[in-house]
Amino acid sequence: MAEFLELETQDGVRMPWNVLPGTKQEASNCVVPISAIYTPIKPFPNLPVLPYAPLRCRTCCSVLNPFSIVDFAAKIWICPFCFQRNHFPPQYESISEEHLPAELFPQYTTIEYEYPGENPSSSSSSSSSSSPVFMFVVDTCIIEEEMAFLRSALSQAIDLLPDNSLVGLITFGTLVYVHELGFGQLPKTYVFKGSKDVSKEQLLEHMSFFLKKPKLPAGVIAGSRDGLSCESISRFLLPASDCGFALNSVLEELQKDPWQVPTDQRATRCTSTALSVAACLLGACVPGSGARIMAFVGGPSTEGPGAIVSKNLSEPIRSHKDLDKDSAPYYYKAVRFYEGLAKQLVHQGHVLDLFACALDQVGVAELKVSVERTGGLVVLAESFGHSVFKDSLRRVFQSGDNDLGLSAKIEDDVPYFP
Ligand SMILES: [Zn+2]
Repeated sequence: MAEFLELETQDGVRMPWNVLPGTKQEASNCVVPISAIYTPIKPFPNLPVLPYAPLRCRTCCSVLNPFSIVDFAAKIWICPFCFQRNHFPPQYESISEEHLPAELFPQYTTIEYEYPGENPSSSSSSSSSSSPVFMFVVDTCIIEEEMAFLRSALSQAIDLLPDNSLVGLITFGTLVYVHELGFGQLPKTYVFKGSKDVSKEQLLEHMSFFLKKPKLPAGVIAGSRDGLSCESISRFLLPASDCGFALNSVLEELQKDPWQVPTDQRATRCTSTALSVAACLLGACVPGSGARIMAFVGGPSTEGPGAIVSKNLSEPIRSHKDLDKDSAPYYYKAVRFYEGLAKQLVHQGHVLDLFACALDQVGVAELKVSVERTGGLVVLAESFGHSVFKDSLRRVFQSGDNDLGLSAKIEDDVPYFP
């Protein structure tokens, strides 16, 4: 068993059977079908990258690998899957037992081919799809001390962003503020009511996306290809290399939500509406390209369709017991909202990450469906000053955009498997 675990660490592949059936009959006798779980974007230390195209079997298209049987004298390799005998092309002429190409080294069961003329990111149809997009959604209903921690963590994160990435900022409390970072002269924001969910059409209308252009018929998903100009997109999403100043100055000015909170009440926090606005904005600007909404939340949502508790402090937040007894009045409505948001984000190809930093609950039980279905991250800490939060945020960006796997595609290019 240890041997298979080692192979799993090496290749990121787990299979229910570690022996392939020899015949069709044996294959059909297997109760659990032959399958493999592959770990995409698994980091491989010392992964060899070969600067040429893989050599494929002429019958089944599988790739030359260390399990192939090689006849060095006849310059022939036998495919281990279909037993087809294949001739080596002229560039493998000097092959011998002492002089093996890297793909035949026994330890190289996983290798990467990178060859000119096939750039994986260029196959995508949208022009903006190669730049990763980060939309920060920041809670301002937090005490000044937490605000300061969050400001400093965010401005550090901005320095770590890949240069080609696009960045946007939304802040929220009682209301939702979409910051127009591309408007250089003075800070400019669009404000949305927190208690009401906004549709994409309303958002586009409100933010005057169609000021100079005819409005699209209802129901059409607007995108960079059909309607929105690059100009209107660049009002809200700026390249990380130019937005440092604009973003830092907004963050510096960022204040705690100005609305007074009576002592017997919770702050009005419209987390769900803010996330919905972020999703609609990304859906309008960069549909189908790699984007993440990174939500920084410091307490329970009390306003809008995803509220988890009322504003009245005398009413406690639902507990496990309440969920078991089915006596959490806000729970199902919030979960339904976040299921809808998850569906929208999956359709757009976007990810939701949640950084929940509070001593109180923030409603991860309701929100998690949107994070899980979009492949996002959840980080829980008690404060934005805690090292769990700061280190996690730093690691997201230090891993580099390739490792984030934004809007990646997996192609299974082995058409035949016996
Ligand atoms: Zn073959």
